Amino acid sequence: MGKCAFCSVAASERYRVVFEDELALCVLDKYPLVEGHCLIVPKRHAEHLGELGDEELLGLMKAVVKAEKALLALNLGDGVDLRQHYRPFLAESELKVNHVHFHLLPRRHGDALFEKSLRHEMSLREMNYDRASVGKLAKAISKAAK
Ligand SMILES: [Zn+2]
Repeated sequence: MGKCAFCSVAASERYRVVFEDELALCVLDKYPLVEGHCLIVPKRHAEHLGELGDEELLGLMKAVVKAEKALLALNLGDGVDLRQHYRPFLAESELKVNHVHFHLLPRRHGDALFEKSLRHEMSLREMNYDRASVGKLAKAISKAAK
């Protein structure tokens, strides 16, 4: 997987590496949305979380927690957003890599992402909320999760 940006990041862009161990790598995002925007990546190439084993998932989540504590200790934010996208329908590009990863974003009340995303998300939530369909969907997802 020499072409994968995350499989090769450790060798080619060491300056962005925050920490790593045998299971996970934490690097600063090349195109940060906010200062301290970290990516937490499993060492083994996988396209989505379902391909990872229990030990890898635990290692990945431990790295998320470790990075979160460090960002908060440095006062880069008062809180964080943790995001993970699985979008195989998008073409791979500089901004999208087919190697599963979490985005960890330090956040503050009223930061650059706050106003825009909160207003947008709240309007979508109000628009999409219907108790009967939410109940039906919860049951369907629960059944599929078994
Ligand atoms: Zn990879």
